[in-house]
Amino acid sequence: MKIILVPLLRDNYGYLLVSEPTREALVIDPSESEPILRRLAEEQLILKAVLNTHHHRDHTGGNDGILTQHQVEVYGHKSDGGRIPGLTHGIDEGDEIRIGELSGKVLFIPGHTTGHVAYLFGNNLFCGDTLFTGGCGRIFEGTPEQMHASLSKLMLLPDDTRVYCGHEYTENNLRFAVTLEPKNFKLISRLERVQALRARGAATVPATLEEEKQTNPFLRWDSNELRETLKRDFPGLASDPVSVFAQVRKLKDQF
Ligand SMILES: [Zn+2]
Ligand SMILES: [Zn+2]
Repeated sequence: MKIILVPLLRDNYGYLLVSEPTREALVIDPSESEPILRRLAEEQLILKAVLNTHHHRDHTGGNDGILTQHQVEVYGHKSDGGRIPGLTHGIDEGDEIRIGELSGKVLFIPGHTTGHVAYLFGNNLFCGDTLFTGGCGRIFEGTPEQMHASLSKLMLLPDDTRVYCGHEYTENNLRFAVTLEPKNFKLISRLERVQALRARGAATVPATLEEEKQTNPFLRWDSNELRETLKRDFPGLASDPVSVFAQVRKLKDQF
């Protein structure tokens, strides 16, 4: 399977998953239709389905435009029937998706929205706005408990899982991370690498889940350094993982 990353809108990423022998393709999170349709034509691909991680416009805005040219299936969480344009396949935790040679699995990961899912194809994780490289999405519809549970679920995947998220936010995320763990040398060296990539306009996605566990402050509720930093500024903060996570999220909302 080949993965083509397509930059969309200002900082979104859509993904084309391609079965090379058959030229069949799926698109994940088409924010807009034109760049996707153009790429499909350039690469001479046969589109088979649209997969949406959640209902936000910057992840589904291209559905209608794509559907006018390609009559394909649209996948998204079963609770998002009224919110994902053209939804034909309401899916849920554990469902298998099999389209031609391509097969993947659905993980239900609410928090950013109540109907957020991730798609796992082999060791490639398409996680929309839940886990970002270096960060996580805002909690718009769910609760910190839900978001923490969803991120914990993703952390159970193997370390070599590749994280393909919905936005190019890594540099800003890591600049925030350094304020909480200024002595985390893996984090500092990652920030340097990410800044070098951004300076030449290159994508910082994907990253491995291992790297996320080592440097993403939203997965580091167990880090002593992060906890010490928070305790210094918020002495009354409870020490359970959800409270630590929720405080990190609150700080990032203001960063
Ligand atoms: Zn979103
Ligand atoms: Zn988004």
